[in-house]
Amino acid sequence: MSHRLSDRINNLPVSQTLEMAATARELKSQGIDIISLSLGEPDFNTPDYIKEAAKKAIDENYSSYTPVNGYLELREAIGRKFKRDNNLEYNPDQIVVSTGAKQSLANVAMVLLNPGDEAILPAPFWVSYGAIINLCEAIPIKIASGIEQGFKITPRQLEEAITPKTKLIFFNSPNNPSGAVYSKEELRALADVLVKHPGIYVISDEIYEHIIYEGTAFSMAAFDDMYEQTITVNGLSKSFAMTGWRLGYIGAPEWIAKACTKMQGQITSGTNCIAQRAAITALDEPISRIKYMVDEYRERRNLVLGYLQQIPGFIVENAPGAFYFFPDISYYFGKTLQGKRIENATDFSLYLLEEANVATVTGDAFGAPNCIRLSYATSKELLVEAIGRIKKALVS
Ligand code: PMP
Ligand code: GLU
Repeated sequence: MSHRLSDRINNLPVSQTLEMAATARELKSQGIDIISLSLGEPDFNTPDYIKEAAKKAIDENYSSYTPVNGYLELREAIGRKFKRDNNLEYNPDQIVVSTGAKQSLANVAMVLLNPGDEAILPAPFWVSYGAIINLCEAIPIKIASGIEQGFKITPRQLEEAITPKTKLIFFNSPNNPSGAVYSKEELRALADVLVKHPGIYVISDEIYEHIIYEGTAFSMAAFDDMYEQTITVNGLSKSFAMTGWRLGYIGAPEWIAKACTKMQGQITSGTNCIAQRAAITALDEPISRIKYMVDEYRERRNLVLGYLQQIPGFIVENAPGAFYFFPDISYYFGKTLQGKRIENATDFSLYLLEEANVATVTGDAFGAPNCIRLSYATSKELLVEAIGRIKKALVS
């Protein structure tokens, strides 16, 4: 029988971060000593106080369907979090809890984008943004920002990318994959462009807000004149080491929150009840309780930066947030290493996988074809070993 899949799925690319992680896992299971720097996933366990809250929820028999937009107690806790961390006022009707920030992003895109609308993607951008835009049959408009501009777009570039068809912009600071963080002043300069176009909405993906080593993260919606145009997206995966719990959320103008609830009500319903109860504790406890993870990431970042700077042909930025480095490795394009011709970042990443047994992700996945992404959410020992292997594969 022939397979008759829809054009929608046939045209959807596989998530390259997840694919590389799966390849690394597969090679490992074959006995090959792979070090994976491919996945953006904390290597910490979920903190005990959060796990305790989940166990209590099970014992208290939380087991039924939840309200589609999330328990009221959780939405209230998220409201307190927005006030405490972001100086943002969102009432519970403006908040929707979803099965990961990925679903939050997809909800927002699906309720705002019509086929043919344009969605601006400042590159480098996280892999799934482009795929989500394509699923909505909208058109991604990429704005390039290389390492020479700190992987940040300028107000002028933004202005030039806007057309009468622009509906949405995907914004992410601290950024995956570059680790770049926009300052309040830089955000204000972009906001000055956006307020002139009140029909354009901004998704502000702030999932790495606490994983920051220099400066502080600032929320786009905290500018009064951007509040009605902004959807603030966040989630527990990164800051609380809860990737598998699948909990994300938005704060948004109420009409957008309502639309997302309607969308989710037909696709997944409310998020898992135990994860939601645990999330109330995670968000209500002081942020100082997760500082030990950020401190460890900071040490790793400093360590890795020092090593990467010693690799010939790597141009690397001091990434102030998230847990990625995104070196420009275009020096190697057109060169032949160990008999293998490197034409682009994908070739380079595959070369590292084969010759150094280190898994990275090609910058092509993030709209930045000169770079590769390395995640340092793994132990210092493995990081040192991995970078040593990379260096050896490149200089010998
Ligand atoms: N946004 C960014 C920038 C990410 O890196 C990720 C990766 N996990 C997500 C959103 C989605 O996170 P989750 O679905 O695990 O909440
Ligand atoms: N966001 C993480 C990453 O970029 C997890 C993988 C994914 O969901 O794509 O690696």
